[in-house]
Amino acid sequence: MDTPEVIERFRRTGALLEGHFVLTSGLHSTGYLQCALVLQHPSEAEPLGRALAERFAGTRVETVAAPAIGGIIIGWEVARALGARSIWTEREDGRMTLRRGFIVRPGESVLVVEDVVTTGGSTRETIEALREAGALVVGAGSIIDRSGGRADVGVARAALATLDVPTHAPATCPLCAAGVPAVKPGSRIAEGSRP
Ligand SMILES: [Zn+2]
Repeated sequence: MDTPEVIERFRRTGALLEGHFVLTSGLHSTGYLQCALVLQHPSEAEPLGRALAERFAGTRVETVAAPAIGGIIIGWEVARALGARSIWTEREDGRMTLRRGFIVRPGESVLVVEDVVTTGGSTRETIEALREAGALVVGAGSIIDRSGGRADVGVARAALATLDVPTHAPATCPLCAAGVPAVKPGSRIAEGSRP
């Protein structure tokens, strides 16, 4: 599965959004890939997970770990394809951690999976939490790499689609200059997509 096929899956499920968006980084963008809208369909999530799992075919993976919430579904599907266990990390007092009774044994081979890598920040935090728990982190995968391949998380990394999305600081954003209201994709857009 290559970048055009992944984008087509997003387009046909309405997950490729065009407009004026405020990203988590504070930068503005004219496009946004809302992974939840493609992953709401098991018929899309399963092949995406299988394709991402194939990128780690030569790697021993006992467990897939994903940062919540965005990584949980794709992490589960990658784990299914690899015959691995699926767990997730979440923030507690701002710090990424394993909760809900999830444990890893010392030296357990863990693959970190998330939906989108932008700077690699949440993947790095997840890797740190797993290493502190004693795991051996063997790689990191995502559906989308929005860093143009530049994000460095310190382990072998793979993505199904690598994009270099143009972003603007609010002060130099052409859509702001044109008076177009900006939206945060996580909130209003997602609500608008409810059936
Ligand atoms: Zn703007």
